[in-house]
Amino acid sequence: MHTAVFSSDASQTPEELIKSAKALGIKHVSVTEHFDMDYPHKDECFVFDLEEYGKVFPSWRSLSEKVGGPELNMGIEIGWQPHLNDRIIGTVNALPFDTVLLSAHVFRGSEIFYSTECPLIPRKERNKEYISLLARMARELDCYDIIAHYDYINRYIEDKDSAVFYKDCPEEFDELFDVLIKKDKALEINTSSIDKQIVKGSSYIMPDPDIIRRYISMGGKLITIGSDAHKSDRIGLHFEKTAKYLKSLGVSEVFYYKNRQPVSDPEFSDYF
Ligand SMILES: [Zn+2]
Repeated sequence: MHTAVFSSDASQTPEELIKSAKALGIKHVSVTEHFDMDYPHKDECFVFDLEEYGKVFPSWRSLSEKVGGPELNMGIEIGWQPHLNDRIIGTVNALPFDTVLLSAHVFRGSEIFYSTECPLIPRKERNKEYISLLARMARELDCYDIIAHYDYINRYIEDKDSAVFYKDCPEEFDELFDVLIKKDKALEINTSSIDKQIVKGSSYIMPDPDIIRRYISMGGKLITIGSDAHKSDRIGLHFEKTAKYLKSLGVSEVFYYKNRQPVSDPEFSDYF
């Protein structure tokens, strides 16, 4: 999740994050501040002072320890674009992160949130191109742990019958999963995406079961659940529903990351 200190689109303070997560009984939190280099919308800034983050994070961690809050893990969500690979490697090497998320917010030169083109592309073509982009991102870099919100392309599509479906792009999904599995990288299930589908009144609330089943059948084991919370009232959003759903599809454990290593999350089974 994000804080207002380093993510310009978030509104929760670290103190609010700690308090809310503690009240919900969440024991591990990954703070994954946005880092989008060469962001195409010049009036917005999604890069921050890495050195400052490295300096201040230990104080958040101590504060949480002091008040009996969650264990805080220092992470980052790095926005990928094809020309950024070397700079992304430099960013990851700059700090001793616990976890590194890679995401793609920029599609055909525009942030998906702002894109006027995106909703006009037929669903199948849009999904195919985006998953293909994620497969390329996953293949070209090694310095990450998790692919964030694979369904971000659909987040701002208002069509109630739209979602990201395995059937739209099986070859692209298989390529993505093949890379993730060979490289021991994780697939994130993003509960903000689920919430968006609920708000839209979508016919497809939960991630397409064929996506999860295919990932598992190809040998995928590493799955994370992220609320992607930017405000404290979004922490842990739909976690119970998501955990039960994943279990029903054959997922027996989910992970969080500590020192760049996956840790099986004992809290997962608490939700059943
Ligand atoms: Zn994101």
